Amino acid sequence: SEPFLVVEDLTVTFPTEDGAVTAVTDLSYSVEMGKTLGIVGESGSGKSVSSMAVLGLHDAKSSKITGSIRIDGTEVVGLSESRMRKLRGNQVAMIFQDALAALHPFYKIGGQLAEAYLQHHPNASKRDARRKAIEMLDRVGIPQPDRRVDDFPHQFSGGMRQRAMIAMGLINDPSLLIADEPTTALDVTVQAQILDLLQDLQREFNSAVIIITHDLGVIAEMADDVLVMYAGRAVEYGPGKEILTHPEMPYTWGLLSSVPDVAADTSARLIPIPGNPPSLLNPPTGCAFHPRCVHADKVPANLCSTELPLLTPGSRGEGHVKRCHLANPDAVYQAEVLPEIA
Ligand code: SF4
Ligand code: MG
Repeated sequence: SEPFLVVEDLTVTFPTEDGAVTAVTDLSYSVEMGKTLGIVGESGSGKSVSSMAVLGLHDAKSSKITGSIRIDGTEVVGLSESRMRKLRGNQVAMIFQDALAALHPFYKIGGQLAEAYLQHHPNASKRDARRKAIEMLDRVGIPQPDRRVDDFPHQFSGGMRQRAMIAMGLINDPSLLIADEPTTALDVTVQAQILDLLQDLQREFNSAVIIITHDLGVIAEMADDVLVMYAGRAVEYGPGKEILTHPEMPYTWGLLSSVPDVAADTSARLIPIPGNPPSLLNPPTGCAFHPRCVHADKVPANLCSTELPLLTPGSRGEGHVKRCHLANPDAVYQAEVLPEIA
């Protein structure tokens, strides 16, 4: 049977005051149960929009979605809001970056967890739901959960709020968990704890996980597969191990070069990618990365600025694909890029 989540040729277009913006173009990926896909890119790369589409959380009336998103074999593109709502929480849950914004400030943490549980367990009693809320707070490592269940969000630290969000995401035992920048707002120590927690829970629940991040450190820690997005398209995709050691797309090289080396406690590897992500209203011709790419001069005949590279297999196979015109990207990476960032 096919993987739990299959996205095929997904394209998402929004109307804006200045014209239509295609935020995601022809995107395909899949996630198996028990596996983690890391989606990485700068803001505006389409990484969040594509996941919102999986959850049916875009404004269905104004955005236009084509392609296919299948969750456990069910096509969700075009699914009614009521059926989508049932799927969300039951099978698919999301953890947002900003727990403070996602939790209601005026309701107790436990009440919000219980509410999430009751939405999908209409026959459960309030007492069952409260017991479940306490159990989940315990599972995510909140001390004295039977007391803290009656706290308001502002009484929790940032790390504890993020744990509460994870508890809320998992309370209905979803098969797919989407975590959008789940640790960005936290300090480094708490980040590591939250990532450990997510990994433990994933093993326990055997769920499929998508982690959306701009941080390749998070990817290295968590992801089985990696999808790199730029200007709404996949530019590199494949097994995390391959992509982290033999990346074949200069944008991925830029991301790798700009990862702060936390372990070495030095910012030596921080070589920022020059320039800014392109406007999706008027994306560059050819390879969308070409205005920022320092390797475009290695490709003859101005191909980089005139022709969109296709996704083609990486030189080492392994299910790795990349979108770049370079003839021998692995050799360029090993000879020119790696020595600079190692
Ligand atoms: Fe750089 Fe050209 Fe490859 Fe795009 S296609 S990443 S511009 S070398
Ligand atoms: Mg985002």
